Amino acid sequence: MLADCPDCVRLWQEYAQINNAYLKIASDLQVARIQQDSTAIAELLKRQDVAGEKRQAARKAAKDHAADHLKAKSAKQGH
Ligand SMILES: [Zn+2]
Repeated sequence: MLADCPDCVRLWQEYAQINNAYLKIASDLQVARIQQDSTAIAELLKRQDVAGEKRQAARKAAKDHAADHLKAKSAKQGH
């Protein structure tokens, strides 16, 4: 990512936020499993699925955007 590109910063911040939410669900899930709370486990598994998809989409958005920078850079250099 480029530190001086607001889009890069925004996309990676979004990814970091979603990633934190995902990790929180994973740790809640661990607690629910220790407590053998099947209702909480089922609910958290659903939330983890949704969060996992969001996380992948956010990472892809950030990577695709970074790839655009690389393309623009190599076009400028005439390769
Ligand atoms: Zn950028």
